[in-house]
Amino acid sequence: MEVMLRKTSFIDYPGEISSVIFFTGCNLRCPWCHNRELVIGGDEKGAVLLNQALAHIKKRRSVLGGVVLSGGEPTLYEELPHIIASIKDIGLPVKLDTNGMNPTALENLLQEAPPDYIALDLKCAPERYGELFKTSAAAACAGQTEIALKQSATLVRDSGIAHEFRTLALPNVDETDIEALAPLVDQAPWVFRAFKTGNCLDPLWDTFADSKVEDVEKLVKRAKELGKNAIGGNLGGEGN
Ligand code: SF4
Repeated sequence: MEVMLRKTSFIDYPGEISSVIFFTGCNLRCPWCHNRELVIGGDEKGAVLLNQALAHIKKRRSVLGGVVLSGGEPTLYEELPHIIASIKDIGLPVKLDTNGMNPTALENLLQEAPPDYIALDLKCAPERYGELFKTSAAAACAGQTEIALKQSATLVRDSGIAHEFRTLALPNVDETDIEALAPLVDQAPWVFRAFKTGNCLDPLWDTFADSKVEDVEKLVKRAKELGKNAIGGNLGGEGN
């Protein structure tokens, strides 16, 4: 199995120097996604075998504080519990980045091989998730998607595992999205980050303006007004 490896990151695991393993494939098609090669394939440059990535991480374990599993969407891989166990055998904690579209896999994971930290993407109001699918047929399943997102958020909140929620200040995300998402969020950090153009999955999105500090602040302010632990953060992790 091939993955992409970012050997060193200072921003993907809160408070830790980490390595990031990126899994290919995703069950969403967010038009702003910066991980085009991971989501639709076609550029295997830089891909390494999972075993090679784990061997590299093992060699550098003394300088690492954790390993991030990102994508793409890691929960699409049945091997994920085994991979998490392998990393824990190395002696490093594991952070999972997920879009929350696969609550069954997430639930199994929490039972079989719970990660040490979970970052759950909240992209827009749950009822708007139909905009994130490749085909209109898939978009018609958006109702199920809304249920999936809510199930995943509940699993994460009830897991007892350190976690955060993540939202990009996209041009088409405003305070009404934050109000719709707020019931999914507990007192864990809700991290808002700027949207930046470049290599977007839908080239049209590269013609939009990058979000400004005020755009992020506006969403943070509304989340705070709703009683959430909202903070502005750096761009890191998957292209959520
Ligand atoms: S942003 Fe994340 S969830 Fe969306 S398509 Fe890209 S990898 Fe998948």
